[in-house]
Amino acid sequence: MTDITKQTLSELINNIKTKKISSEEVTKAFIDRSEKSKKLNTYITESFDRAIKKAKQFDQNPNFDLKLPGIPIAVKDLFCTKDVKTTAGSKILNNFIPTYESTVTQNIWNEGAILLGKLNCDEFAMGSSNETSYFGNVESPIDENLVPGGSSGGSASALAANLTPVTIGTDTGGSIRQPASFTGTVGLKPTYGSCSRYGIVAFASSLDQAGPMSQNVKDCAILNEVISSYDEKDSTSVDFKRGKYSVELSKNIKGKKIGIPKEYRVDGMPKEIEELWQKGINFAKDCGAEIIDISLPHTTYALPTYYIVAPAEASSNLARYDGVKYGFRSKGDNLIDMYEKTRSEGFGSEVQRRVMIGTYVLSSGYYDAYYLKAQKVRNLIKNDFDEAYKKVDAILTPSTPSSAFKIGEKKDDPVSMYLNDIFTVPVNLAGLPGISIPAGHDKKGYPLGLQIIGKAFDEQNILNIAYSMEEKINFKNKIADWWIK
Ligand code: GLN
Repeated sequence: MTDITKQTLSELINNIKTKKISSEEVTKAFIDRSEKSKKLNTYITESFDRAIKKAKQFDQNPNFDLKLPGIPIAVKDLFCTKDVKTTAGSKILNNFIPTYESTVTQNIWNEGAILLGKLNCDEFAMGSSNETSYFGNVESPIDENLVPGGSSGGSASALAANLTPVTIGTDTGGSIRQPASFTGTVGLKPTYGSCSRYGIVAFASSLDQAGPMSQNVKDCAILNEVISSYDEKDSTSVDFKRGKYSVELSKNIKGKKIGIPKEYRVDGMPKEIEELWQKGINFAKDCGAEIIDISLPHTTYALPTYYIVAPAEASSNLARYDGVKYGFRSKGDNLIDMYEKTRSEGFGSEVQRRVMIGTYVLSSGYYDAYYLKAQKVRNLIKNDFDEAYKKVDAILTPSTPSSAFKIGEKKDDPVSMYLNDIFTVPVNLAGLPGISIPAGHDKKGYPLGLQIIGKAFDEQNILNIAYSMEEKINFKNKIADWWIK
């Protein structure tokens, strides 16, 4: 049998169900590898002892009808986990132990999964490189100088390094798809309203969505099937009939119409990305799809719109961290002084930047000029997609405008950092599902991803397209275990 940690989720499920391996063996194997992989700094909180105890319990009383029978999984530290510290990558929540469980994580435990621990992420999920985390940078297993992407950087790095068989991230403007693209893994942002936001530390409520990250498309479908559910505890959860994504997964995409939006050919896009996109188009044709040129005319406004809407919502959501209700509190001479010190010591500089931008665009003098205007443009962006979907079934684009960059390279240049999100944010603004699949390497050997965007609630369709293209692409991640001690 291949090394346990190198097996896919579906292989592990099979091997546990057929009793070839026990949950305890699987759990220990991932823990052992995680212990040797501290250099990557993927974990904020490890719950290894608890995981082994749970695995033993599963083996003593197994239920093989569950969808994730005794499978250990580490998740992004943005999901509240009952009795396990949840920090959102922030000093302000460094001592926060939730008394409740997020719906998405509850869904995976209900299907037999076991929590390995909480994975590093950008502070409050604000970032594209995992460099804003209070708990330090995460290294990419591709190369120690590279960022794994963000904000689900710890998740992507742990997944690519085989420290967890699959993981769950969140995506507000690209935080699942961009790190997936940077690390040669698969990441799906489901339709807004598909996965419950209950118990996820809020960043921008109208954009945030949880989603699966995996080594391949089939595992992504298995996990999405478990985490997507209607939840009355989230007022934006949508009660639609969810597919059996893994059961209905099919490689037959003959006759599917796939749109290529001309506005995604942005100025200064590296030739490698252009070539990757063309390669993707050819693969889609080989799979039997019909390629159609489309236009999404308001694409250029997506990034500025996002960087108004997201900070506005963040500034409002983060108002709750005042030193009284949660987490860290600084000493002050009076109440106002305590608030100010708590927030200036508890939040890092990127979070402070977003709170300031958000407060500014919501302030009475600027509300109409910025926030209201951005909401109108957001609507136009959504309309572009609606128009396009009259002609096509899905849209194919690159996931990111470049491959992974070096740690520190963009840290002091927020605009160039924000440009990373150029292909992913329109999808969040329109509330649509999007998946990134690994599709090639650049000349340095770093992975590059392609994004498939679907109609709302049409996850099955983009999973099928991804599944069929994955076979043709036949991507192999080039990861040598250089960090293992
Ligand atoms: N990189 C984007 C940001 O910093 C997206 C983050 C996310 O999706 N959580 O806002």
